[in-house]
Amino acid sequence: SDGDSGGEEYLFKIVIIGDSAVGKSNLLSRYARNEFNPHSKATIGVEFQTQSMGIDGKEVKAQIWDTAGQERFRAVTSAYYRGAVGALIVYDISRRTTFDSVGRWLDELKSKFLLLFSRYPFLNRTGRGNRPVNGIELVGLGTGFCLLKTFCAVHSDTTVARMLVGNKCDLETIRDVSVEEGKALAEEHDLFFMETSALDSTNVKKAFELVIREIYNNVS
Ligand code: GDP
Ligand code: MG
Repeated sequence: SDGDSGGEEYLFKIVIIGDSAVGKSNLLSRYARNEFNPHSKATIGVEFQTQSMGIDGKEVKAQIWDTAGQERFRAVTSAYYRGAVGALIVYDISRRTTFDSVGRWLDELKSKFLLLFSRYPFLNRTGRGNRPVNGIELVGLGTGFCLLKTFCAVHSDTTVARMLVGNKCDLETIRDVSVEEGKALAEEHDLFFMETSALDSTNVKKAFELVIREIYNNVS
C-alpha cells in the first residue's frame, strides 16, 4: 500500500535470539513462509523476513530478524538489535542448556539495546508527528507513504515486547524442561511465554502475532 487511503502503516522490527539450533530460523520460516527445514544449517539464513497482519483495520508489518548463525560465536552484533521493538528469546524444551542460557540472552538484549538506543539513527529526524509521546517517537520516513512508529525505550527494556519461547514442544518424549519451569522463568523476568513447535506449527503464528499485537498496543 502507498498510503493513498490516508491510513497509517506500521513497521516493527522484531529479533529472534537464543542458542544455536533451538529452532530460530525454522520458527521464522514457518511463520513467514509456512516452511520447515529438517536439515537447516546455521550458516544459511536470511537477514530478515517481513510478514503483515491486520489489526484494527490497519496493516501492521513485522520485520523479523534472524541471527543467521552469528550466535554460534557468541557475538551477535549490536546492529542486529538496532531499532528492535520486540524480541523472541527461544530455547529448546529438549535441551536444558539452552534454557540455562536464557538469562544471558536477556542480559545481552538489555545491554545492547540500551547501548544502541542512544545512537538510534532516526531519532533526530523531524517528520510527520515526530515528537515523543509517552516515550514513543513517531518517525516520518520522508516520502509520506509510511509512518514508522517505534519506541523510545530510554528508561528500561520493558518497552521491548519480549516473549520467552520454548520450542520443539513436539519432542514431548525427550522433554528436559517442564512447562512450569518455562512459565516461572517468564514470570520472573516479566516476559510472555509460549511453547511452540516449528515442526508441527503449534503456536508459531500465535507467538509472533501476540508479540506484534503487544507492540501495536504499546504504540497506539
Ligand atoms: P537455529 O540455529 O536456532 O536457527 O535452529 P534451526 O531453525 O536451524 O533448527 C535447528 C534444528 O532443529 C534443525 O535440525 C531443525 O530441523 C530442528 N528444529 C527446529 N524447530 C524444531 C521443532 O519445533 N521441532 C523439532 N523436532 N525440531 C526442530
Ligand atoms: Mg538459524
